[in-house]
Amino acid sequence: VSAQADPAVWPRAASPRAITDARTEAMIDGLLARMTLEEKVGQIVQADIASITPEDLALYPIGSILAGGNSSPGGNERAPLEDWVALSRAFRAAAAARPGAAVPLMFGIDAVHGHNNIVGATLFPHNIGLGAARDPDLIRRIGEATAQEVAASGADWTFGPTLAVPRNDRWGRTYEGYSEHPEIGAAYAGPMTLGLQGELVEGRPLAADRIAGSAKHFVADGGTQNGVDQGDAVISEAELIAIHAQGYVPAINTGVLTVMASFSSWNGEKITGNRSLLTDVLKGRMGFEGFVVGDWNAHGQVEGCSNESCPQAINAGLDMFMAPDSWRGLYINTLAQARSGEIPAARLDDAVRRILRVKAKLGVFDRDRSLEGRTDVLGSPAHRALAREAVRKSLVLLKNDGVLPIRAGARVLVAGTAADSIGQASGGWTVTWQGTDITNADFPGGTSIWAGLREAVTEAGGVAELSEDGDYVQKPDVAVVVFGETPYAEFQGDIETLDFGPEEPLALLRRLKAAGIPTVSVFLSGRPLWVNPEINASDAFVAAWLPGTEGGGVADVLVGGSGGRKPVDFTGRLSFSWPRSSDQNVLNFGDENYAPQFAYGYGLSYAKPETVGPLSEDGAATITRSNLDRYFRDGRVQSPWSLLLRDSGGDARVGQALSSASPRGNLSVRSTDGAAQESAMALSFSGEAEAVIFGPAVDLSRQRNGDMVLTAGVRLESRVAGPVELGFGKDRIDIAPLLRDAKI
Ligand code: BGC
Repeated sequence: VSAQADPAVWPRAASPRAITDARTEAMIDGLLARMTLEEKVGQIVQADIASITPEDLALYPIGSILAGGNSSPGGNERAPLEDWVALSRAFRAAAAARPGAAVPLMFGIDAVHGHNNIVGATLFPHNIGLGAARDPDLIRRIGEATAQEVAASGADWTFGPTLAVPRNDRWGRTYEGYSEHPEIGAAYAGPMTLGLQGELVEGRPLAADRIAGSAKHFVADGGTQNGVDQGDAVISEAELIAIHAQGYVPAINTGVLTVMASFSSWNGEKITGNRSLLTDVLKGRMGFEGFVVGDWNAHGQVEGCSNESCPQAINAGLDMFMAPDSWRGLYINTLAQARSGEIPAARLDDAVRRILRVKAKLGVFDRDRSLEGRTDVLGSPAHRALAREAVRKSLVLLKNDGVLPIRAGARVLVAGTAADSIGQASGGWTVTWQGTDITNADFPGGTSIWAGLREAVTEAGGVAELSEDGDYVQKPDVAVVVFGETPYAEFQGDIETLDFGPEEPLALLRRLKAAGIPTVSVFLSGRPLWVNPEINASDAFVAAWLPGTEGGGVADVLVGGSGGRKPVDFTGRLSFSWPRSSDQNVLNFGDENYAPQFAYGYGLSYAKPETVGPLSEDGAATITRSNLDRYFRDGRVQSPWSLLLRDSGGDARVGQALSSASPRGNLSVRSTDGAAQESAMALSFSGEAEAVIFGPAVDLSRQRNGDMVLTAGVRLESRVAGPVELGFGKDRIDIAPLLRDAKI
C-alpha cells in the first residue's frame, strides 16, 4: 500500500468557482512585495484565543485566530454575544495597529450545527440527522442561518462543512458526517458552501451576512481502521477517491474558500504532511485556489515534526498551521526555516498569497460588518423555525405498529431522562467541546422534546406528564420514552461495540409494555446502535439523532393537532445502515454480503405503514440449512415477508430474473434512491438496486436437492450475482451463503 496519490486518477473540479481575479492578484502582488518575512510567516500561523491576547499581536504579526471547542472570551464558556464581538474587535484593532503592511485578522470557529458556541444560538440537528433529511435546499438555508449567527458574533469563518464519510460507526465523529454513502455529502457540499459563503461574485467580497467555509477533513477522516479518531485509513487510492473525496469537488466548484487537512493518515502517512494529496491532488488536479488550514496541532503528528516545528507540512502544501497553544514557538521556528530556505520563499509566498486571496474574498480588508452585534439575529424566530423544519425532516421512523400518530386528545406520558434535556439532544460541539455540563438554561429560547410534546398534546386536548421513572398518576393512553447516548466529541466518543448499553430505558419500556401502555421510543444518538431489545419493547421507534435546540419538531411529527389536524408525516430515511448485531461496526450500503437490520434508505411513514416483526435479540440471524425451519414452516413462509435482492454486479441480472417471472401478489421494486415502482412488470433496473417483494402468505417450498422455489410465481434462477437477503418484515436474513450454489 502506498501513500502516494496519482493525481491523474482523481476527479477534477469541473468548473472551480474562481475565488480570485486579476485585480485581487495585483493587489496581493503589491502586498507581498511590501510584507516582511515576519509578516508573511505570521500569516501562516493561527492561534487559539485561549492562548493569545490582542497585546501579543504587537510583537507577533499572527494572521488568524480561532476559538476551539472550549475556548470562549475571557475563558468563560458561556460568554454572551457582546463579549464575542468585543473580543473580535479587540483582536482586529490590535492587528490594524501594527506598523507595516497591516493585513487584517481572520477569525475562525466551529459552528458545525449552527453557532454552537454561543448561548442563545439556534442549534440545528447534527449532520447525521441532516443526511436523513435528504434535502439540499434545507442544507443551503441552514448554511445561511449559521453564517448570519456567526457574523453577528464577529467571527468570519466556520470550520465546516464536515464532509467526512464515516465508514465505521465506532468512530466518535460519526454524527458529524452526513452519511456513510458519499452521495449525500456530495449532494450537500455545494449547498452548504453556498449557504455559508453566498454566491461568489468576481471582484466583490462576501456580503455582510456570509462567512468563509472550510471543507473538512481532507481526506479519509471517516475511513480509519477500527473507526479510531485521528487514525490510519488503510485503503486503496480507488476507495479513497470513490468514498472519501466525493464531497470536495462540489465544494470547490461552489468556491469553498478553505479546506482543513485531516488529522488522520492514509496508508501510514499523516495527511497533513502528504504532498501528493495536498498539493498535487487538491490544489493541482482539483484546482483549489483557496488555502489549506491544518487541524489542531495536527502538524505535530507529522513524522519528524513537533507542535512547534513542522516545515514538512508547509512544504507538503499546508498553508496555515492551526497552532492553538504552540503558535509562539512555531512562529519563531518557522521564521528561522523561512530564513534558511528550508521553507522555500516561493512556497511561503504561495501560502500567503492563498490566505490573502481568501481574506480579500471574505472582505476582511473592507468587510461590511453591519450584522456584528445583532442579538436579534442569534436564535431568531426564523432560524428556529428552520431548525424545527430540519428536525421534522431528520426523524426516521424505524417501527410503527399503529401507535403513531398520537391522536388528538390522548393522555400522553412523557418519560426518559433525555426528554427534557436540550443538551443531550444537541450532543457534542454544544456550548462546550464535549457538550457536557450543560443545562436547559444554556439554551434560552430552545424547546426540549418534552416541552414540544407538552405544547402539542395540550393543544390536542390531552395531558402530558413528565416522569423520570415511568410512574404516572392516571393511566396514560400512550407513552413517549426519550433516551439515548449522552454527549461526546471526537476521540472521546470512540467506542468498542455498537451495543447501546444502558439498561434503564429497556427496563422502563418493558414496564410500560407489561402495564399495557402503547409506547413510542424516541432515540437520541450520534450513530446507529444495536437496540433490537428496545425496538421489540416499543410499539413505535423513532431514530431522532441529535436534533439540537428545536425538539418541538419531534412533536410536530408525532402528535396530531386540534380539530383532527394530522401531524406532519415522516420523510426521513436512513443515511447510515442500522446494524442487526452489535459487532456490525463496518456496515455500509454496497458492501458484499450487506445484511443490516434496517438498510440505508429505510424509513417508514404514515402514508406507507409496514409491520416490523420481532427482531432477533441475540444479534445474529443468518439462515443456514440447519435453521431454515425457523423461517419456513411446511414450505410456507410466515407473512408478512420481504425479499431483498441486490445485484451489485451492475448488469441487471436480478432484474432480468425477476421480469422473466410471473409474480402474483404485491410486488414492488425500490431503487436505491427510494423511488418505488409498484408495477409487477416494471422490474428491470441496472446497477445497484433493491427488489423488495412484499407478499401475504406466499408459498415457499424447498426442493429435495436443496434448491428453494418461490411458488408465488417468482422463480429466480441462480443468476443473482450480488448478495441476497431474505427476511420477514424487516428482519432480513443473509442467505447469500446458502444461495451461492443453490437456486431460489
Ligand atoms: C477538530 C476540528 C476542529 C478543530 C478546531 C479539532 O480538534 O478535529 O474539526 O475544527 O479542532 O476546533
